[in-house]
Order: sequence, then C-alpha cells, then structure tokens
Amino acid sequence: MGVSWHQVPAQTSADSTITKKKYQAKAPKTRPFGAEAFKASSKTTLRWLGMAGFFINSRGTTLMVDPLLKGFDMPLLIDFPIDTKDVPKLDAVLVTHADNDHYSVPTNRDLKPVTKAYHSTIYVDSLMKNEGFPSFGHNIQDTFQVGQVRVKLTPADHAYQNAYPGMSKRKFKNEDACGFWLETPDGTIWAPGDSRLLPEHLQFPTPDAILFDFSDSEWHFTLAGAVKIANAYPNTPLLLNHWGSVDAADFTPFNADPEQLKKLVVNPGRIHVLAPGEPFRLKRLKNQKR
Ligand SMILES: [Zn+2]
Repeated sequence: MGVSWHQVPAQTSADSTITKKKYQAKAPKTRPFGAEAFKASSKTTLRWLGMAGFFINSRGTTLMVDPLLKGFDMPLLIDFPIDTKDVPKLDAVLVTHADNDHYSVPTNRDLKPVTKAYHSTIYVDSLMKNEGFPSFGHNIQDTFQVGQVRVKLTPADHAYQNAYPGMSKRKFKNEDACGFWLETPDGTIWAPGDSRLLPEHLQFPTPDAILFDFSDSEWHFTLAGAVKIANAYPNTPLLLNHWGSVDAADFTPFNADPEQLKKLVVNPGRIHVLAPGEPFRLKRLKNQKR
C-alpha cells in the first residue's frame, strides 16, 4: 500500500481553535464527458480529471496520468467528470508515485479491464504487480512508447516519508517518484508529479503545456518554486491541478489559489483554470528552443 500524503502530522497553528472555516479556492463546475472523448481524433486534447489526474487523447492514443475517479479517503469539493465504468479504453495509465491522491488503487482496479498497460517507477510497479495490473516499472530518464506518444520519466524529490519516523517501515528513495515528459505529434506535455524543486526542473527544453501543481507545501515545489518553474518557461500554458478538489482548508498541498498565482507569474494569461472535464487543445508553441 502507498502511504498517504495527508497522514503527515498536521501543523498546529495559533488559529486552529477558530471554528470559522478558512477560505478555500474551488475548481469550476465539472463538465462531464463520456466515450466520445476517447475516439480517433486529428488533434491532442487534455482534460483535467480533478485532483492531480489528466486524460489525454493524442490523435486517438488515450492515456491517463494519475487518475483518481473514486474511493478517496477525504471529503471532496468536486464531482468527477467521468465514472470509471464509462471509460471505454485506455492505451496506458501513467502513475507518478504511490500516494493515494496519485495512485488510486480503487480507480485502477476498475480501469484494469480496459487498460492495455500501466507505467510508473520501479517501486510503484512492484505495488501494481501485487494488484495484477499489466504494469511496467522504469528508471528516471527511461523512455517508452504509448502509440504515437513518446514518454520519458523526469526526476522528482518527494521522499517525505523518511522525515516522519513511524510513517512507513520502508526507506523511500527519490526514484520511487517521477514526472513524465510526453512528446505527442502536437507538442510536448510535462507532468512534473509531486516534487520539491530540483535544478533539472528549470533546464528542460520548453514544453507546450505543464500540468502545474502550485501548492505552497514544503514537500512540493512550494508556491515560490512553482513560480520559478512557470517563469523558466514563460510562454508555456499552465494547466492547474492538485488544487480545488479536496475539502481541506488547512492542508497546503490541496489548497492553492489560482488568484494568488496570477499575481506572481510572467504572462498570467497562460494560466488555465480548467474545470474538471473541460477540454484543452494542445498546440505547439512557436519559436521555442527545443
Ligand atoms: Zn499529491
């Protein structure tokens, strides 16, 4: 079993006795989709699934990154845009790490009959093998192909479990978690996963979209780190995720506010506050260093 991020001991704060709930930014109203989104297509379309999940249809190649569509153990602010039973097929599920907001065992059990392959790190693959998923484990920098999409694992630093004695018997390694770099016929997508900021994160060729986590959490990029990433790729569309989905006003990883981000990044017009299920068409940026 993966450990849950939110099992990290809560910070006690001076205002923890105040009963009035803190403001929490919420995702826009869900736009449900169904089997039509999985059909052959002449373009690459992304849909946020809520939480950290995305569905990508790249000219008929269908993938989900970190899908969570049911069975989370905290109250939610959103409806999911599709039920697992309505997913007709997936060429691949990609999972960045073992936390249950990214590797949802109940979701993936439901998706197993329609999913050709699961891809993740070596460690998460070992968990998937226990579930009987058709899974593949990869090292950081490894590449593999899903239909027309070439995928590479990017590094992450998210081994927070080691900092909390008693949380897990296992000693976690950085390479247990990853991001994914996806080269599609219509441009590149970077899904960094959950991570503290690494120098490498600022040195990639310019992606055409970033699946952007901007929560102000010390085990994530932090807001300041997220802004550094955003400004390292100043024209790249930022598809916000990891925010606005979980009812947890005092828990920073689920609590970022797009309005705050807009004041901090270069070219705030490229911030996309998508509703769960809302389509976003990937387009190659012009005149970028590759
Ligand atoms: Zn997460």
